[in-house]
Amino acid sequence: MKVNRHFSLTFVFGFPAVIGVILIGLIAKNHLDAVKKDIETEFHRVEEAFNRTTKVVTALDYSFTNYYRSGSTLTLDHNKQVINGLCRIWPIEAKLLADSKIADIPSVDIDYMLVGEESLCSETSDEYKGASEKISLAPILSFLSQLDEFHNGVHFIDRHGYVISSPESFAKGLSKEQLSTIKSRPYWQATANSPEQLTLNGPMHRFDSLDRIISMTSPVFHQGVYQGILSVDINVDKLLEVSNPLLAGKVDIIDTTLVTPSDTSIFYEEIHLEGVTSHHAIYYELDLTKEIENFFIYEKDGLIVAIIVYLFSVTIFFYVNSNIERGYFKDLAAKDPMTNLLNRRGLEAFWRRVEHDKLFALTIFDIDNFKLINDTYGHDIGDDVIRYMAQQLNSSIRSSDVVARFGGEEFVVYIKGDDRTSLVETLHRVKETICTRSVDIIPTGFTVSGGVCIVEAGGRKLSFTEIFKYADEKLYVAKSMGKDRIEF
Ligand code: GH3
Ligand code: MG
Ligand code: MG
Repeated sequence: MKVNRHFSLTFVFGFPAVIGVILIGLIAKNHLDAVKKDIETEFHRVEEAFNRTTKVVTALDYSFTNYYRSGSTLTLDHNKQVINGLCRIWPIEAKLLADSKIADIPSVDIDYMLVGEESLCSETSDEYKGASEKISLAPILSFLSQLDEFHNGVHFIDRHGYVISSPESFAKGLSKEQLSTIKSRPYWQATANSPEQLTLNGPMHRFDSLDRIISMTSPVFHQGVYQGILSVDINVDKLLEVSNPLLAGKVDIIDTTLVTPSDTSIFYEEIHLEGVTSHHAIYYELDLTKEIENFFIYEKDGLIVAIIVYLFSVTIFFYVNSNIERGYFKDLAAKDPMTNLLNRRGLEAFWRRVEHDKLFALTIFDIDNFKLINDTYGHDIGDDVIRYMAQQLNSSIRSSDVVARFGGEEFVVYIKGDDRTSLVETLHRVKETICTRSVDIIPTGFTVSGGVCIVEAGGRKLSFTEIFKYADEKLYVAKSMGKDRIEF
């Protein structure tokens, strides 16, 4: 027999799984949105850094173009030294106090060095004269090189081959060969090729650093004469360092004329900076394994909730299923399968539940000479007669009343009533109806006998056994008195 309203195992596991998958999907979507937003924030931060660098280069370019001071301060304030065939010039006083007398204003480190061929140290050389004019701008170079932490140095590379550099460490590290090749580097050419614009070069490795550098350069003209180039070096590795732990991959920048992005690059975007010639693109280098790892780390709580929801739903479905099954088996144990009426066990359970606060009658109906019916018409017709009895009794009672089959052809009817007379009348009417219509089942028809116990409300509380016994005795009386009658 099939159990109704019973969830299949596929449903018990499948439905919560669908809910779980939807939940995980939502969590993943939120996570992806957050990652995407953070990547955009990183891109924006990098772009802002470039924009600030643009301002630094422009400010320096403006100074170098307009504010040369004639008259040399080189001899007075500077040290001069020739080492390994290179001339180095650097300020004597490395600290410049602010002009203001207010003590709170911090002093600023002046950190620069000029480096060039030996002839730069000769006061009669062209280089020396040129450098004397430009040296007044070196402190500005020094201030601006300290503005952003990812700026790795600011340099002015003169067309005569000497370099003014801040911090001095860069100039100090330059060898004679390196100095001689500066002008043949590609960025020198690229810068010279776009005199109206700044140029973005790199990323490349500078001789003094393991980090990669992007330089923003500008050619310098003074009174229409080309002087050299200004370069602000950006430490790209420092700039692109992602401090956001949510992002597992890294942000990178490439020169698209030199490098093609890898297959794992996403959110690829070309860099456009106002007034800057660049062929650069920024992108996010995806590391799927780490990204998934991060998803589990950062969305742990949400995922745990999804698992709990899944397990909880499965448990609920199991609970509901077992309740349905328990109900079904309880039903099975309490019912007579042939007529679907309550059996003895079912009636007793009903008896315990019901409030016997009203007058009621317990009647046992027994088909007269049922053995003969079986013998005459066969067992199957006998079964039909039993089913007919069940149907007749069932349709003649109210919802508060109950009919049970106590095995064989014996039926027990429990009816509540307002008064004794109406109960008696009801029982007589039920019996008569059954007998009259019995010809519909078997041609000869049949009769029934009944034994009744009527119990008044408020009287001594009688047990089911006592009441049943009384009714059974009355049935016996009815049978003994010739059957086809009800005894009270
Ligand atoms: P009485 O008028 O005294 O009640 O006579 P009876 O023949 O009805 O007496 P009894 O109670 O001895 O006979 C009941 C018979 O009912 C015995 C049994 O073979 C038959 N019977 C019991 N259960 C079923 C059933 O489920 N189907 C059928 N067809 N017969 C049944
Ligand atoms: Mg009988
Ligand atoms: Mg009997």
